[in-house]
Amino acid sequence: MVKLNGVVVRVPGKVNLHLGVGPLDPDGYHEVTTVFQAISLYDDVTIKHGEPGQGIVLTLSGSTSMGVPVDSSNLAFRAAELMTDRYDLSKDLSIHLKKEIPVAGGMAGGSADAAGVLVGIDALFDVGLSRDEMERIAAELGSDVPFSISGGICIGTGRGDRITPALSRGTYHWVLALSGHGLSTPAVYGECDRLREGMPIARPQVSEAMMQSLRAGDPKAVGKALANDLQAAACSLRPALRLVLDVGLEYGALGGIVSGSGPTVAFLVDDEEKALDLTVALSASGVVSGVIRANGPTHGARVVETL
Ligand code: ATP
Repeated sequence: MVKLNGVVVRVPGKVNLHLGVGPLDPDGYHEVTTVFQAISLYDDVTIKHGEPGQGIVLTLSGSTSMGVPVDSSNLAFRAAELMTDRYDLSKDLSIHLKKEIPVAGGMAGGSADAAGVLVGIDALFDVGLSRDEMERIAAELGSDVPFSISGGICIGTGRGDRITPALSRGTYHWVLALSGHGLSTPAVYGECDRLREGMPIARPQVSEAMMQSLRAGDPKAVGKALANDLQAAACSLRPALRLVLDVGLEYGALGGIVSGSGPTVAFLVDDEEKALDLTVALSASGVVSGVIRANGPTHGARVVETL
């Protein structure tokens, strides 16, 4: 067995095609039922053996890396600590995150980096974790981390961390409308609770309309079935998102949705040509800070290069 000097892991961002949020549990969390799709917007995580005694050293680059912490508050750093503690591995590691997934955009950027670190350390030290073991450790780091490892299209239950692949066909074309400032996930959940105060809230259900549309590989039906219980809360905290949704739908999107806790708004369109038209329309509208096109579903965290 040749000892590797390093590995590069590519990890996708995600959109939630469906996000059902249950009532606030006594432990402060919400049960969710969600449908994730991994999309072709990636962070690259490079992990190399470091100098003896250096510890975990994290560095950043990429279009969305500004302001992201490099200490133990970074989820990738915590993933490295967890993996090296659990399997008694050297902590002398140099980790570089090349970030393209928007930060605090509801696209699981931090979770993607944590997933990349788990997969990368597993490969670098030849730990040989099974998919199940990997997903269990991933769930300790955050609800979206197991999906970032699996990719594709999955149903997430529990806190979104118990994932099952969903039957689906076809490729989906997305136009992502970005906001200049992120939204904090806990703040959006808090606003959701506030808006629903006093209302009876049912346990979240898998969306049959969404599952059927995905099985049929029918983007028009998927567009109609897009639903997010956090959307009203994200729009309440950031009213401009309603304008973004209106612009996208007016310019021919099959459906539009705030992704996860937002503020990224994801529009599903028919094909590449429609994606280009909508990109131009959204950019010209002045209501978004950036527009990105992406396709899904794509793979989860995987080693793309050994060093
Ligand atoms: P989710 O969709 O899982 O709710 P998100 O995409 O909305 O997450 P992240 O991009 O993961 O949000 O970032 C949320 C916060 O976490 C940021 O404000 C940032 O300071 C912090 N953070 C910690 N680690 C990372 C990381 N590796 N990349 C980006 N942000 C990170």
